Amino acid sequence: MATIIDGREIARRIKEEVRAHVDGITTSGAPAPRLVSLSSGAGDDAEIYIKMQQRAAEQVGIEFVRKDLGENARMADMMAEVKELNADKGTTAIILQKPLPFNGEHNRIVACVAPEKDAEGLHPFNLGKILRKEADIVPCTPGAVMHILKVSGVELYGKEVVIVGHSEIVGKPLSLMMLNQGATTTVCHIATAEAGTLTEHTQGAEILVVAVGKAGLVKENWVSKGAVVVDVGINSVDGVITGDVDFEDVSRKASVITPVPGGVGPVTVAILMRNVLRAYLRQAPGASSCKA
Ligand code: NAD
Repeated sequence: MATIIDGREIARRIKEEVRAHVDGITTSGAPAPRLVSLSSGAGDDAEIYIKMQQRAAEQVGIEFVRKDLGENARMADMMAEVKELNADKGTTAIILQKPLPFNGEHNRIVACVAPEKDAEGLHPFNLGKILRKEADIVPCTPGAVMHILKVSGVELYGKEVVIVGHSEIVGKPLSLMMLNQGATTTVCHIATAEAGTLTEHTQGAEILVVAVGKAGLVKENWVSKGAVVVDVGINSVDGVITGDVDFEDVSRKASVITPVPGGVGPVTVAILMRNVLRAYLRQAPGASSCKA
């Protein structure tokens, strides 16, 4: 049986560290970091995520402010709000909640957020810093996967890594972050599946990360014996949250596996808090980092 990663415990430890740092800031008399959540008529799913972020912020002493512009907000309203928050000294980090009702325009708004206030690490400047191996504020889910592997003692140097899923928020940045650690990375996606070569790739992985959004896609015969399997997927099947990996099946063959729920998800929220702290530090007087 595989070792099952306890994402909640890993998240607790990250938040403990962030809390200690934030306490140090506030006891010195400086204001606490402030994360502003910007949404536009958040639905039920978004509401769950916002509440999770709010609870995590409370746990670490970060001020959390919700701003919802309503479902009729226009792109111009959102841009104006972002610009105002960029200029507001008290706002040290901004998160844009999905979905925003401006189809295909999400990236335009992300690019409008000041890079040093980009809590999600998705601004082109912060994404570019990954390429240069200089990233401090990283995309939260890739950051969570990297942290889980690190604290679990999984070495990346020289390893065959296969990532299934090539989204801008997970697969693409994660592939670069792993490459930076010396892994040999292969990124698979829908075209790999259509070409019929997906399992050929996954079977060769020493570390397999799956971020697709299809419940139970990965079966035992997709993985090699002893592989480390990280399941990023979050799917709701008849009201039950489940991952992209058939957990029962694959945990018989893997050496290490992350469950869903309780794996990557809680660590992602904790990394968001770490990003908020790093954003604050980037804005501190005398911080050396270029703000773009
Ligand atoms: P996305 O829809 O943007 O990308 C899906 C990816 O899967 C694409 O690269 C696509 O080509 C690929 N794909 C689709 N069908 C495939 C198939 N049959 N075989 C191989 N590849 C296939 O998704 P995303 O935003 O990256 O999210 C992926 C999953 O991860 C979702 O379940 C999402 O809810 C979850 N997620 C979890 C967290 C977390 O914190 N745990 C964060 C972000 C996303």
